[in-house]
Amino acid sequence: MKLYFIGAGATRADYSQAPLGDDLLVQALQLQGREVLNKTCMVRDFLQTFFNFSDALPRLEDVLAFVDFSLSQQNIVHSSYGHEEFQNVKGALVSLISQLLEESLRGESSLHCGRDLCNLAIKNKSVIVSTNYDISIDNNIRRLKRSIDYGFKIRSAGELISEPETIGSTEFVHKFEKNNQVPCVQQNTIVPLYKIHGSLNWLYCPRCDEIDLTTWQKGVIFFMKHEQMVHCQNPYCTEFYRDLLVTPTYFKSYNNRILKSIWEKSERALSKATEVVFVGYSLPDADVTIRCLLVRGLARNYQRPKITVVDRSPTNSDVHVRYRRLFGEVEYLAMDLRQYLDSRL
Ligand SMILES: [Zn+2]
Repeated sequence: MKLYFIGAGATRADYSQAPLGDDLLVQALQLQGREVLNKTCMVRDFLQTFFNFSDALPRLEDVLAFVDFSLSQQNIVHSSYGHEEFQNVKGALVSLISQLLEESLRGESSLHCGRDLCNLAIKNKSVIVSTNYDISIDNNIRRLKRSIDYGFKIRSAGELISEPETIGSTEFVHKFEKNNQVPCVQQNTIVPLYKIHGSLNWLYCPRCDEIDLTTWQKGVIFFMKHEQMVHCQNPYCTEFYRDLLVTPTYFKSYNNRILKSIWEKSERALSKATEVVFVGYSLPDADVTIRCLLVRGLARNYQRPKITVVDRSPTNSDVHVRYRRLFGEVEYLAMDLRQYLDSRL
């Protein structure tokens, strides 16, 4: 069994304008519009307070790591920033970055790298592990008439809608509407897609500890735009939906039942793979937990699988060196995703 491990660069192969790494923070702070103004101001204030930010922005990873670290501590050491303020800053950062990605991944790409990568994965009966929140791989798999196994049981599928409230016409209620037409799924048409950092179409209810799926819609962006006030669809539950996105920092919390299941299934898939193909993933130093996942999964694999890396950076680049240091021997293909797909399809 082949395993495709997909990073942000795989999405970028189709959407060259999509920002990566530090550009995410720069561009997130430049977002315009009334609904983002509060959030960009909040993040700017935060960066000024803790990073003495004037024109040079800190690294996004440092900011996220600092926020997560502070939230994990009992005492927070600033008079204007308590636990709640840190939570709000984290929410604002995740929301801004998600909206930025949403805007830069609009429309269908003419390069079709995502679609062809899914085709290849289906042809090889592969498992896909993805670090991306966006739902372009999900949509490509569904367009190819396949179902997705996310590594846990989805409670229900549907979409978020806005309806005018019956009393008064200016207010809208936002709600989750179940799609009752559950398609008949045949076992051999299921593609395992383990999204280890969460997904923008997963609505998480912390009280029910369940996920409702907004299949084709980025439900998380929808409720972030509407100040996160969407009730869980369970009539006996009063909780609002939240996202289940994991920010790429050192201080990740995988105590959540659903994330744990996804990580365990990813590790098991690594332990059974005959080849692991990394696509658009630069193995950054900050992704300590992913490195541990990879090392653990491969240590359980009795036949050492072939490791293939598809990356545009040249041979002996930092990316190549990082892979060699973690895995020893790797097949390094210094090419873009389109070239790789053309050579394999
Ligand atoms: Zn609930």
